[in-house]
Amino acid sequence: MVTEEIKKQLRAAVGNEYVLDSEIDRFGYSYDSSFVSIADKNQPEVVVRPATTEEVAAVMKIANANGIAVTPRGTSSGRTGGSIPLAGGIALSLTRFDKILELDEKNMMVWAEAGVRTIDLYNHCAAKGLFYPPDPASWKYSTLGGNIAENAGGMRAVKYGVTNNYVMGLEVVLANGDIIHTGGKALKNVTGYNLTQLFVGSEGTLGVVTKVLLRLIPMPKVRNTLQLMFTELNDACDTIHDMLQSGVIPAAAELMDKISFQAVARHRKLDIDPAIAACVVVEIDGPDTAALDEQANKIKEIAGRHAVKEVRIAGSFQESEDIWAIRRGLSSAIGAMAPNRFGEDISVPRDAFPDMIRRIRKISEKYNLTIAVYGHAGDGNLHPSVLCDMANPEHAGKVHHCIAEIFDEALAVGGTLSGEHGIGITKKPYLVKALGEAGVAAHKAIKLSLDPKGILNPGKIWEN
Ligand SMILES: Cc1cc2nc3c(=O)[nH]c(=O)nc-3n(C[C@H](O)[C@H](O)[C@H](O)COP(=O)(O)OP(=O)(O)OC[C@H]3O[C@@H](n4cnc5c(N)ncnc54)[C@H](O)[C@@H]3O)c2cc1C
Repeated sequence: MVTEEIKKQLRAAVGNEYVLDSEIDRFGYSYDSSFVSIADKNQPEVVVRPATTEEVAAVMKIANANGIAVTPRGTSSGRTGGSIPLAGGIALSLTRFDKILELDEKNMMVWAEAGVRTIDLYNHCAAKGLFYPPDPASWKYSTLGGNIAENAGGMRAVKYGVTNNYVMGLEVVLANGDIIHTGGKALKNVTGYNLTQLFVGSEGTLGVVTKVLLRLIPMPKVRNTLQLMFTELNDACDTIHDMLQSGVIPAAAELMDKISFQAVARHRKLDIDPAIAACVVVEIDGPDTAALDEQANKIKEIAGRHAVKEVRIAGSFQESEDIWAIRRGLSSAIGAMAPNRFGEDISVPRDAFPDMIRRIRKISEKYNLTIAVYGHAGDGNLHPSVLCDMANPEHAGKVHHCIAEIFDEALAVGGTLSGEHGIGITKKPYLVKALGEAGVAAHKAIKLSLDPKGILNPGKIWEN
């Protein structure tokens, strides 16, 4: 319990105005973008907003000495409940860690604080012709610390990979308040365990990331966007498969099924052919327009072999933006289709993508629940959204069985529970199925050694 005496210590550590304990402040830090929080149960006892690594270390020492839970928090855009303070205690906000510290152009790396927003880092580097590729759709508000804790992906993952492919080093405050530095600017580094990658995807359960060192690459000189429409979902999947096999690796290849595409078309008041069963948005990039034309022609030719109904190659930056706006508008358009939406994030081997969609269709029919499916088809990461009305007892009684079956099918085709959103609270019940008892025990052993009192983000990833 966070007593008045402990609050006094926290205020001495970070300053009076950065320790918040009013009802409204605690409510504000009780949820994330999964909306699984129960606000009156999941409030922190106190919100602490440090600005330096030393302040984080001091907070962790106080928490560790008193056995108080600490839930690190970026901007709470997480989709699986990761920053919900399940055990009360301290909500540790990192948003004052907002400085980009060093852009090392020679080594093509950047040091930044953990609370920097993803898009701000991207823009800062882009101004110097350097490219930080991970682009979660939430990048206008997500933080680097949250991206690292969830190993965030994005639309460009098919060509450029996800967050972990760019993390070179970290500054981390451990549960006991010790400060460690992992990795560094040396490209080759086998000095000890790869702790950097251990913290990536650890969902705030092993340490508080305060600073990050990220690798950059040269910014592609030109980009363009294509929109491909199909009357059969399989044709869309086969086109993506053949495109990758042919050596055309697009920066992004996003697929929307009929339900998703119609939702976004309604939302954006677009007039679309009702026969369209799948829409694919492809981004290509390269050194010059000749290289772009070559890729676009190749994609058009491959899509033609798979009965593409319509190919649109953007003729201007604005047209590219218009096509991307359709993809970016998906999440909210689907959300508006029903009172409740359970958005999942399974990842399957790329060749299992069409089979997985078929399996989801069968589950949808079995439970008589609408499931919209879209995703990063280029890397096998799907986002099925189960739409329902939880006020309807019939829906409430079956929706979790429906979701469990989606996870079962993902595992059955060799896939996994999460491609980019993590486990958090929402996928805990399925972890043993995915990793096995021994796999979960190995995770717990690591957790125990770094956080013996279990104070860092308790109740996440598995049942404590
Ligand atoms: C509309 C929308 C679209 C999205 N699109 C994508 C997408 O395309 N790809 C994708 O991968 N995700 C996506 N997400 C999910 C989410 O944005 C990412 O998981 C993001 O990385 C979370 O960042 P955050 O700063 O909001 O972290 P939070 O939600 O605040 O926290 C997430 C987790 O990280 C931990 N954490 C946060 N900061 C730190 C730190 N400094 N040290 C240690 N642990 C920390 C928290 O404890 C929690 O477990 C989307 C979310 C929304 C709402």
